[in-house]
Amino acid sequence: MTVCRAIQDALGDLNVGKIWYEEPISRHASLKLGGQVDALVMTENEDQLREVVCRLTEKNIPFLPVGNLTNILVREGGYRGVMLWMRGLDQAICASRKDGGSFIDAQAGATLAKVASLAAAEELTGLEFCTGIPGTVGGAVRMNAGAYGTEIKDVVSTVSVIDGRGNKKVFRRDEIVFTYRQSNLPADVIICGARFNLQKGSGAQIKERMAEIMKWRHEKHPLQYPNAGSVFKNLPGMPAGKLIEDLGLKGVRRGDVQVSKMHANFIVNKGQGTASDMISLITFIQEKVKKEKNVQLETEIVIIGEHL
Ligand SMILES: Cc1cc2nc3c(=O)[nH]c(=O)nc-3n(C[C@H](O)[C@H](O)[C@H](O)COP(=O)(O)OP(=O)(O)OC[C@H]3O[C@@H](n4cnc5c(N)ncnc54)[C@H](O)[C@@H]3O)c2cc1C
Repeated sequence: MTVCRAIQDALGDLNVGKIWYEEPISRHASLKLGGQVDALVMTENEDQLREVVCRLTEKNIPFLPVGNLTNILVREGGYRGVMLWMRGLDQAICASRKDGGSFIDAQAGATLAKVASLAAAEELTGLEFCTGIPGTVGGAVRMNAGAYGTEIKDVVSTVSVIDGRGNKKVFRRDEIVFTYRQSNLPADVIICGARFNLQKGSGAQIKERMAEIMKWRHEKHPLQYPNAGSVFKNLPGMPAGKLIEDLGLKGVRRGDVQVSKMHANFIVNKGQGTASDMISLITFIQEKVKKEKNVQLETEIVIIGEHL
């Protein structure tokens, strides 16, 4: 039996929201390339999510939570199993604490844009750095997303998760170790939501800062082409983009996939790019940087799925 058939049998009798079978991930990933996922499941609430996860665990079917797919590259051979597309859980609310401070509770599938806009509307400062990061709360917590000297770790106060058996747990900030673009939350948990502690600020200043960041991003990043943000992690005191640019690799292509001429740590899809082109270009850059600079570049983007 194929994995796809096994998934149909496992989920057939459940009310789980939307399911796409044998779905090309290129339709949804920010890179607009990548292989097929056996099933993409978007649940509408946490109860449905728990039901799906428990059933998949029981039937031994692999699954992976994903948000906006803005930091993922799926190899050409596709992902065998179920991607749990968290975008169906996208609520965010703002409330006050007893000590006078405020917080936002956001579900994992809420976009950072939505959460940062809510904070700005409530004149709460702390999330301005999220402006222009196109991910969701779940992806941002998992990756400890950051920009301009601030990271998710600086504003998050609790993270709620479920495990493969559907058990819920809430981690306090001090129970999680966040490092550069990663967190040590157990690999097999699904982040369902997070609370962000924020301070009262000036609405005008918050909006001005967000506009400034957006302008800066438009000036520096090749946003006119599909991409996944920074491809490689920076090294201490050494931006990956500078290393790549110094080796003259801006503009280097594999098929329709190209090292951006605007920012060397971005790889863009100029139309018909494939995951194989992207992997080939990433490997080429890593080998070149290793040979010429004796530095091993690690990818920031998460690469998953089967080789062809
Ligand atoms: C134009 C552009 C600019 C960007 N700028 C920045 C930037 O300034 N700073 C930065 O840090 N990143 C940046 N990124 C990268 C990306 O947007 C962030 O890493 C973002 O946090 C990823 O969120 P996502 O929802 O898209 O996650 P996805 O790409 O869907 O997933 C990323 C990882 O998180 C895991 N994950 C997702 N949701 C969950 C969940 N609910 N529970 C458990 N695990 C989960 C996935 O399994 C995967 O391992 C940029 C990307 C683009 C395209």
